[in-house]
Amino acid sequence: MDVQLLEATADPERLICQAARNDYMEEYVADASFEDVMTAIDGDSLEDRQETLIHHLLDHGHFGPFEHPHATFAVEGISRSCMAQLTRHRHVSFDVQSMRYVSFDEVDPEDVHDGEMVVVPPSATDPDWVGRNQESGPVDDETAAEREALFRETIADSFEAYQNLLEKGMPPEDARYVLPIGTKVNLVMSMNARMLMHVADMRAAADAQWEIRELTEGVLNLAAEWCPTTFEYYDEKMHNRKNRLAP
Ligand SMILES: Cc1cc2nc3c(=O)[nH]c(=O)nc-3n(C[C@H](O)[C@H](O)[C@H](O)COP(=O)(O)OP(=O)(O)OC[C@H]3O[C@@H](n4cnc5c(N)ncnc54)[C@H](O)[C@@H]3O)c2cc1C
Repeated sequence: MDVQLLEATADPERLICQAARNDYMEEYVADASFEDVMTAIDGDSLEDRQETLIHHLLDHGHFGPFEHPHATFAVEGISRSCMAQLTRHRHVSFDVQSMRYVSFDEVDPEDVHDGEMVVVPPSATDPDWVGRNQESGPVDDETAAEREALFRETIADSFEAYQNLLEKGMPPEDARYVLPIGTKVNLVMSMNARMLMHVADMRAAADAQWEIRELTEGVLNLAAEWCPTTFEYYDEKMHNRKNRLAP
């Protein structure tokens, strides 16, 4: 999978501070300089004051100001299963690659066998992989090889069936019904910084599935570059703890 930041609010932490300070200022925030807006906050420099305020907001659960900055991410090559989990989050906006208008008629089923069009989970190839909801443990090499062969043959067969149905005149929007839930998809998603923390609370957690965890960790890394004070604090004090944003 790949995840990249496409667009984002240019100075997210200044915006968070302006919004938060608006709540406690007599003056109109739009008429005041940012220096004036921040004078009441402790710190030697403007950067220090910004950090003080952001930490204070996060410490006290004052999350509203984090709803103002937005970020848009491009995601490549996650499974439709992972997408179904992700799109449950109602305050995230999505654009999802269509299977009605994009048909995979040129794909070679041999390449599908090798993992080109379908996400191959680690449990299909790693004998020692143990999933969270799995009753059995690691398997021997022979069973692992059989498991991998079965998985790869099944996904290749389903793409072959899909292409046969297209050749027999079935529209892509209906022929896709035979494709596996692991079929890769690209999407674009936008959310505000508060929602990003909420998604991370749920999807970077130990009980989330490996694929959505990997995606969310990638999003969190990009968020730490985009909105550093907030997401460094998140990483240190909130990541992998109890869901605080919408308990
Ligand atoms: C480990 C794990 C396992 C899961 N298993 C299943 C499963 O088996 N089946 C299944 O269906 N789902 C499952 N889910 C999905 C889960 O139940 C949520 O639907 C999903 O994670 C969206 O998160 P959210 O409820 O916080 O809502 P979001 O859409 O992310 O909204 C954020 C917050 O806004 C508030 N909110 C949004 N809409 C409403 C509303 N209509 N009414 C009141 N408050 C609202 C809530 O406080 C909510 O937490 C699972 C999630 C996880 C992390």
